[in-house]
Amino acid sequence: MKILLIDIEVAPNTAHVWGIFDQNISINQLLESSYVLCYAAKWYGESKIIFDSVHKSSRTDMLNGVHALLNEADAIVHYNGSRFDIPILHKEFLLNGMPPPAPSKQIDLLQVARRQFRFVSNKLDYVAQALGLGSKTDHEGHTLWVKCMNNDNKAWKVMEQYNKNDVILLEAVYNKFKGWIKNHPNHNAYNANIVCPNCESNKLHSRGTQRSRTAIYQRFQCQACGSWSRSAKSEKIGKESLVNI
Ligand SMILES: [Zn+2]
Repeated sequence: MKILLIDIEVAPNTAHVWGIFDQNISINQLLESSYVLCYAAKWYGESKIIFDSVHKSSRTDMLNGVHALLNEADAIVHYNGSRFDIPILHKEFLLNGMPPPAPSKQIDLLQVARRQFRFVSNKLDYVAQALGLGSKTDHEGHTLWVKCMNNDNKAWKVMEQYNKNDVILLEAVYNKFKGWIKNHPNHNAYNANIVCPNCESNKLHSRGTQRSRTAIYQRFQCQACGSWSRSAKSEKIGKESLVNI
């Protein structure tokens, strides 16, 4: 399974405003709508980090590059990407007359953090630090984005580092979360051997049975990532039974 880790940085919306407090901004006050400044990505299991930006390339070349990556991916790992990164990229593809990329499975680590754990904050920076995986690259805040929008070379160096580091953190958090991810895209669909659905390891220990209302399944725990799985085929129940309706 080809797993792509991805993170994008976007420019803020810019607008003419008449004040700074409690403003209602109408559409005709908007100058430029938010757009993708850059992205960093990495194929899981490979060390190379791919980075491109509207500064390094033309917007079209950058979008073609990220579109090709999404096309190749069986699954995409991101942090809030289901609501942010992916729809923003789709919007840009649409605006640039590009077709939808091939369908892929989404592994949104923010959703995993929300569903499975109760960290004080679900921000990537907080979760990564809590797990001892490092932290986000320090930067000057909003000014960095403004400088990048104004083609400041120095600011772009920081942005590249920041964006790439986010993908490194994303991968580290993915590695920690892997055994906890419910409905992780199943590695067995991409592998000739029987492997852990979550991490592709073959170190599976038989650990009891899983019972549904009508069937019994052999249950396993992965010794690499800790995830639980069961055989797809049920074992014989051994007797006629009834289920309530
Ligand atoms: Zn596993």
